[in-house]
Amino acid sequence: MVTPYRWTLDQILAATGGSLVSGTVDADFAGIGIDSRTVAPDDLFVAIRGESHDGHRFVAEVLDRGIRGIVVAGGQTSQLPMDRITGGPVACVAVADTVTALGAMARYNRNRGDLKVLAITGSNGKTSTRMLVDRVLAGTLETLSTRGNLNNHIGLPLTLFRLAPAHRAAVLELGMNHAGEITDLGRICEPDVGVITNVGPAHLEGLGSIDNVARAKGELLHTLRPGGLAILNRDDPRVAALAGIVDREVIYFGSDRQADVRGDDIRLTEAGMRFTLSTPAGSTRVALSTPARVMVSNALAAAAAGQAMGVPLERIKAGLEAFSPQAGRMGIRLAGRDIRLLDDTYNANPGSMAAAIETLARMRGTRRTLAVLGDMLELGDQSAVLHREIGRKVADARIDRLYAAGRFATDVADGAGERQMGADRLFTGNRDAIIDRLKTELRPGDLVLVKGSRGMAMETVVDAIMGWA
Ligand code: ATP
Ligand code: MG
Repeated sequence: MVTPYRWTLDQILAATGGSLVSGTVDADFAGIGIDSRTVAPDDLFVAIRGESHDGHRFVAEVLDRGIRGIVVAGGQTSQLPMDRITGGPVACVAVADTVTALGAMARYNRNRGDLKVLAITGSNGKTSTRMLVDRVLAGTLETLSTRGNLNNHIGLPLTLFRLAPAHRAAVLELGMNHAGEITDLGRICEPDVGVITNVGPAHLEGLGSIDNVARAKGELLHTLRPGGLAILNRDDPRVAALAGIVDREVIYFGSDRQADVRGDDIRLTEAGMRFTLSTPAGSTRVALSTPARVMVSNALAAAAAGQAMGVPLERIKAGLEAFSPQAGRMGIRLAGRDIRLLDDTYNANPGSMAAAIETLARMRGTRRTLAVLGDMLELGDQSAVLHREIGRKVADARIDRLYAAGRFATDVADGAGERQMGADRLFTGNRDAIIDRLKTELRPGDLVLVKGSRGMAMETVVDAIMGWA
């Protein structure tokens, strides 16, 4: 466990430009926290006004817990127990806006050491690419990276507050839902390398059109440090076109012939995706442990990032191959008796369900294929129709057996029946009934897709099968 940078009050004043309301400048703090429930007594507490809570209202509570330093909005001091602040050994800094101050302190931290910052944005694949880059850099550079999805104007600073003197690289996910947000985040982390995975029709509510989404992602390139580098998806025309907006070196990734870091001969095997990675430093065959085609694109982005950070090709290959997707997101799990599970139990909607069924069919080889599907929730009055459609897809993909759980299980089965999937190959029931049935029907070598919406908890089926010898 690396110990994060400590803070003196002097550094906090320098970073935020705030004014000292009380306290002495030699006070120092082990870290920075914004949650009154988890902030440690030797941390500095920053009062943030969020959607449902205002941190200023919790200042008395954190003082009770022994906190010795706070940052507050100058306009909010009337809400504070000022007698306890000025009368005691508490350091208090007032700033115009505490969220801005949080970002300013994060930028200060980013600039403390010899650190290469790699920032990732895009409509899809940010977290997956971040995890792949982590693997690629492991063993070469001591790396800090975003945890979970902490990718906004609060999450990014919290991530940078975990920086320690030993870190040489930071891999940061930047998310956004409106124009200008990536500019703000980029100014906080000042990237040396900026990765844009792709541009899709997400957050259209805030942005209006897909071209505006592209422009908003492109903001990242304007925030690159002088001498910085852009890593852009050559297969996505909107992303590739962003190269023109800023005078920076570019590495393209993709399967396009013009890509600098290229994936060729992309194949799906029953153990996952295979492709040939070609870079200016040479070529090598790579085996990914996921059958999801989109992960090849993320892997190419990560390979380009590795190259930019000076990682040798063999290490890049090893890193990509060590990656396994987060639980329940299209991972392959090996159960007893050579049974393979395609575990996509994290969530489901009609698009991802169709993609998973297609992947199951493509992975078949000589194996028997089984689909264990739970309801897709929150589809409103379209539910029955959409579940029936999934049943048809299962039958059309010539899946050998279908087990459906949930309120719409009979709709799924009816859809399959419509396309001549015989009743002997269909089973509907609750999860426990399906588990019982699988116990007698699973055979060595079977390939089983398990998927459903989060609320269906289909991972209980995966857990049951993994527990059988
Ligand atoms: P969020 O904005 O929710 O944080 P994200 O950009 O971090 O998402 P991931 O968590 O990596 O994305 O992936 C979410 C889902 O998006 C995956 O389950 C996968 O189906 C899909 N996905 C991942 N990578 C890509 C890609 N390169 N292109 C298209 N879809 C992708
Ligand atoms: Mg994410």
